[in-house]
This record gives sequence, structure tokens and C-alpha cells, in this order.
Amino acid sequence: MDTQRDHRASLAGETVSLPEKMQETKKDERDAVVYMNFMKNHSCYNAIPTSCKLVIFDTKLQVKRAFLALVANGLRAAPLWDSKLQRFVGMLTITDFINILHYYYRSPLVQMYELESHKIETWRGDSFENVYLKSSNRILISISPEASLFDAVYTLLKYKIHRLPVIDPESGNVLHILTHKRILKFLHIFWKKVPKPAFMRRQIQELGIGTFKNIATVQQTATLYEALAIFVERRVSALPVVDEQGKVVSLYSRFDVINLAAQKSYNNLDMPMWDAVQGRSCFIEGVIKCYPYETLETIVDRIVHAEVHRLVLVDRANVVRGIISLSDLLQGMVLTPAGIDALMS
Ligand code: ADP
Ligand code: ADP
Ligand code: AMP
Repeated sequence: MDTQRDHRASLAGETVSLPEKMQETKKDERDAVVYMNFMKNHSCYNAIPTSCKLVIFDTKLQVKRAFLALVANGLRAAPLWDSKLQRFVGMLTITDFINILHYYYRSPLVQMYELESHKIETWRGDSFENVYLKSSNRILISISPEASLFDAVYTLLKYKIHRLPVIDPESGNVLHILTHKRILKFLHIFWKKVPKPAFMRRQIQELGIGTFKNIATVQQTATLYEALAIFVERRVSALPVVDEQGKVVSLYSRFDVINLAAQKSYNNLDMPMWDAVQGRSCFIEGVIKCYPYETLETIVDRIVHAEVHRLVLVDRANVVRGIISLSDLLQGMVLTPAGIDALMS
């Protein structure tokens, strides 16, 4: 029997001795920064896959052709090259397609000539005084391959973007487009090799990682145009589709809007959401969800394996209570331990 230890414990009125407790606290503190350090110790270059497809658009290309090219290549975004300036000037993403549709759509009977004829540079041009450009990024946000993944996470979250081109400073070439998904997947590859912080075993509701108030949802009876309006106004990446009781029935993400270009069905945005959901070219069955009592570890495993950008948090009655997106997870696991709140700023 360790009499010395028993004596110390009884003096302190605790079952664990003070030095042991301090050691535990120190271990917890070290643990908490494991993912932050992992991201600081790996460069963007490390997370780039050995081969991947990349398409670049000249700003003189017609917007309609550009979106069709994204579909044809199975891509979600492309860097924009200005041949006059001889440099990359921005990105074209599905959000831009949504903004264009939302701006020009009138009814199924009125053709959107602008979508047919506009060039990318017309849409982005200074003379084009619209709410979308005022609120979006006017310059290209990029990162060097030498920069750390920590910087990449910070940049994605701070600028509220989902596509971060990695540009070689010497050649000026785009090497890859980093996303939240790629970064979390990279960490997940090393999952077993890095010590697991204690917070991974805590419940998501306790940790408060995610959004739990003012969740943007869309009724299944609403029109697709109404859903696009919510994307534009709330700037969210996906909408849980709900019934009258607020129970989630499906999920419609910005990504799904690109199907409209694929199917050339963007002339009828008056269709109800249940039809729009049927038209998704997605192989995911049902909604990928989570519950408030599940641990962060379970949630990270589920989101990485499902290869989706968010989980819908529901209660036992299947009513939507929150969204846990990759942005929230990277904020909670990487930036919060560094004392940074990039999502709030
Ligand atoms: P997605 O539609 O893929 O979710 P984002 O949320 O990244 O795309 O895009 C939001 C807006 O920010 C779009 O108008 C897009 O063109 C712009 N954007 C995205 N990434 C960048 C970037 N790296 N630099 C500048 N602008 C960007
Ligand atoms: P991205 O890879 O551009 O971030 P998303 O993950 O938002 O795209 O969407 C990819 C596909 O997965 C879309 O068809 C979308 O509807 C579907 N999806 C995304 N999140 C969920 C979810 N939680 N439940 C069911 N389907 C989802
Ligand atoms: P994302 O754009 O999905 O990377 O997420 C950015 C922030 O928006 C995160 O804090 C998400 O929880 C939040 N968010 C995403 N979708 C929704 C939604 N439908 N309603 C409310 N917040 C959301």
C-alpha cells in the first residue's frame, strides 16, 4: 500500500494527490492542442493529392458554358484567369451560378437571355451593380503550398469560402483547390497516430460545436426559387428540407443546384422542393444526421466516411435542431484551441 499517497490524498480531502491532478490538467492542456499542432506542422503541399483534375476558365468564357464545363468535368469550382491582366482574378463556384439564376429568373415562360449570352467578366464587371458582388470577394484568396494547414483552415473560415486555390509563388500555377473536406480527411488519415484529445469523447451539445439557433430550412412544398433566395440571403451551404412539423425529410445543398445546369432545367425554378430533391444526382440515401448526445469523435467519423459537408442535428422526433458543418468542426478542433474564433469575425 502507498501510505504516503494515501496521506496526501486525505490531507487534500480528495482521492487523487495534487501532483497527479496537476499532471492530468497539464496532459489535458497538451491534448487540447494536438490537432492545432498537427495542422501547424503540415503544409498545404502535404495535403495535395498526387493527381487531381483542375479546370481553369478565362473570364471571357460565357457563364453558361463555364457551368456546363464544371458539370462535364464533375467539378465544383474553377479559378478564373484574366488574359489581359495575365493573372488569376477569382473563383467561379456554384454559389455564383445560384446568384446568377436568382438575379435573372422571372418565370418558366421568360428565357434568361443573360445566362445564355453573358461572359464571366460581364457578371463580375465593375459596372455590374448588384448585391451579390458587393457582398462577395472581389479578389482571389489563395495560399502558398509552403503555408501550414493551420493557415489554410484559418483562411477558409475567416473569408467564409469553401475553395482555396494553392498557388505556387514561383510559377504562378494553381496546384490544387483545398477544401474543408480534404483537410479533415487528411487529419483523419493520421487519426490513429495522433493522441486523441479528451474533448473528442465529449457530447456535441456539451461542446457547443455547431449552429443551434436560427437554422435556415426550406419547406418541402416551397419552390426551388424560394430555396435559392434563402441561399442568397442566408449564405448557408445547405438547407434541410422539412415538413410542416419541422421534421427533416431530405437535404438540398448548393452543390445540388449544379444539376440544373446538367439537366438544363434551370428554366423552371417554380418546381416544388420535393421534385428538386428527386432531381439531385446524389447517391446518398436519406439524410445524414446526428443527435445532441453523440460524441465529437462519432460525429467526425460519420462526416468523414459519408464525405458530406455537414450533418443535420435532430432530436428524437426528427425535428431539426442544428447543423454541424465541417467549418464548425475545424473551428472547434483546430482554431478554438489556438484561441481564435474565425467563424464569428
Ligand atoms: P461554393 O459555392 O462552392 O460553396 P464558396 O462558398 O467558396 O463556394 O463561394 C462563395 C463566393 O466566394 C463565390 O462568389 C465565389 O466565387 C467566391 N470565392 C470562393 N472561393 C474564393 C477564393 N478563393 N477567392 C476569391 N473568391 C472566392
Ligand atoms: P460539397 O462536396 O460541394 O461540399 P456537399 O457535401 O454539400 O458538397 O454535397 C454533396 C452531396 O451530398 C449533395 O448531393 C448533397 O445533397 C448531399 N449531402 C450533403 N450533406 C448531406 C447530408 N447531411 N445528408 C444527406 N445528403 C447530404
Ligand atoms: P458552412 O458554410 O456549411 O461551411 O458553414 C458555415 C457556418 O454556417 C457554420 O457555423 C454552420 O453551422 C452554419 N450553417 C450551415 N448551414 C446552415 C443552415 N442551414 N442554417 C444555419 N446555419 C448554417
